Amino acid sequence: MTSPAAPDPMHAISADTRHTVEDVLEYARRRALYEDVPLDKPMTPRDLERLASGSITPEGIGSRRAIALFENVLAPSCVSTDHPGYLSFIPSAPTKASLAFDVVVSASAIYGGSWMEGSGAVYAENEVLHWLASEFGMPQGSGGVFVQGGTIGNLSALVTARDAARRRAADEGRAAPSRWVVVCSAEAHSSIASAAAVMDVDVATAEVDADGRLHGDAVARVLDEHGDAVFAVVATGGTTNFGIVDDIAGVGAVARERGVWFHVDGAYGLAAMLVERMRPAFAGVGLADSVIVDPHKWLFAPFDACALIYREPALALSAHTQKAEYLDTLTGKPDWNPSDLAIQLTRRARGLPMWFSLATHGTEQYRATIEYGIELARRIADEIEARDGLSLVRDPQLSVVVFRREGWTLADYEAWSDRLLEEQHAFVVPSSHAGEPVLRFAIISPLTTFELLTGILDTLA
Ligand SMILES: *Cc1c(COP(=O)(O)O)cnc(C)c1O
Repeated sequence: MTSPAAPDPMHAISADTRHTVEDVLEYARRRALYEDVPLDKPMTPRDLERLASGSITPEGIGSRRAIALFENVLAPSCVSTDHPGYLSFIPSAPTKASLAFDVVVSASAIYGGSWMEGSGAVYAENEVLHWLASEFGMPQGSGGVFVQGGTIGNLSALVTARDAARRRAADEGRAAPSRWVVVCSAEAHSSIASAAAVMDVDVATAEVDADGRLHGDAVARVLDEHGDAVFAVVATGGTTNFGIVDDIAGVGAVARERGVWFHVDGAYGLAAMLVERMRPAFAGVGLADSVIVDPHKWLFAPFDACALIYREPALALSAHTQKAEYLDTLTGKPDWNPSDLAIQLTRRARGLPMWFSLATHGTEQYRATIEYGIELARRIADEIEARDGLSLVRDPQLSVVVFRREGWTLADYEAWSDRLLEEQHAFVVPSSHAGEPVLRFAIISPLTTFELLTGILDTLA
């Protein structure tokens, strides 16, 4: 037996690899500790081609040059989603603890898919999932997995729901319907329609009330129409555009009574349930068969993490466990294998950054930081109402404020938005509601201040 003459230069510990690791961690350290995160902005493909092409070469350009390229060209052409003036879509605001620990997760080469390989990481992730489940009022025995995002969380939950419905139909000697149907409101997130397309099932939308909320009676009417073809009902715990919370208790009661799977999509808003006074708005989440919330949204974790929780995890195992000769050693045991609960196999232990931050800071700090966003939304909504030429489209329920500038067209909004980003002031893109272009502040970061928001409003005068 002879070993290779020289160790692989990419893996061996040498002066070179040591410098690479130190330089990268030093950059990460600086970025994580920026006092003023630059907002930054996109570059055109042409400019990037001019400034950044040619990095992939037979010999390599070396880590110094590659880091410099990232720091000086590539990173500045990515908008910082944790900037306090990033108020579009749903911003991110990872805690310092969570983003630093994300580096540890990368350095640790943990396989988070199975208990056999990742028991410690899986245990810690489960601590977070069980805490969330109990906050949401779900029963003992609930459990789940951190998946990439709300889209995969919703898809995985709906696949489990359909699998359970198929089994039930078979057990009861009923034929499966020619088309399965999922029921949600017109305000439900686009990922529900996307999941339905992937699953090749139909979406039936139930009417919402004047406030955009879905109620049980509207769901009951759709269930009457589609009968046994319905395999799941989805309620939204905080819509993305407005933060509207459906009548979850009412919808859940109807789903329960009809024996249909009840899924709560709380990707953005369910975090608000951690605030005591907000709980009544979310009553009924405990009835859910499955629930999602995205830590990368309002639970201050870095991208990308969605907590997917099932009332009966065994049903998810039946739907999702992959079977193969090379996996028998894992699937033949009663171990808790996160891979088996969603559409995935190999998985990063992506719940660990949140676990570390929650363990470090404790749950109370999370409640307070979420409450800050809700209060700031309320304050700025009042300010908008008080200003001439501005008006609210709807009263904010969570931390999204949607408003209009009287007399402006979409082109006006877009030009204003482009200028705001160009001047590195803030990132606020127009949204629309019922065909009308509108502006929208989505507040997540505790570094977003009232003064920053009024400064933006001043530019609308
Ligand atoms: C953001 C969001 C999703 C999708 O989550 P991703 O993590 O972006 O895939 C689903 N539902 C709601 C209500 C959301 O706000």
